[in-house]
Amino acid sequence: MKATLLAERCPAQNVMCKPAVECPAKAIVYHKDESLPLGGKITINSEQCNGCGICVTLCCGNAIALE
Ligand code: SF4
Ligand code: SF4
Repeated sequence: MKATLLAERCPAQNVMCKPAVECPAKAIVYHKDESLPLGGKITINSEQCNGCGICVTLCCGNAIALE
């Protein structure tokens, strides 16, 4: 099982993103990019993800699924 981001549900706000802080594999990263409509984006590196599911519980927008 790997975490995947449903980007259309994600507000991509670094200060709100507990999964990016709490992911034990450091697989979730905020990227600031002013060229994007939301000013940045969240990415999940599936190769680093260990499938623990912590991010699904913490996600502010119900935007992460394990599949
Ligand atoms: S399932 Fe666990 S390891 Fe994978 S991205 Fe979420 S918190 Fe990180
Ligand atoms: S907690 Fe979830 S919805 Fe909120 S910014 Fe992070 S990945 Fe996106």
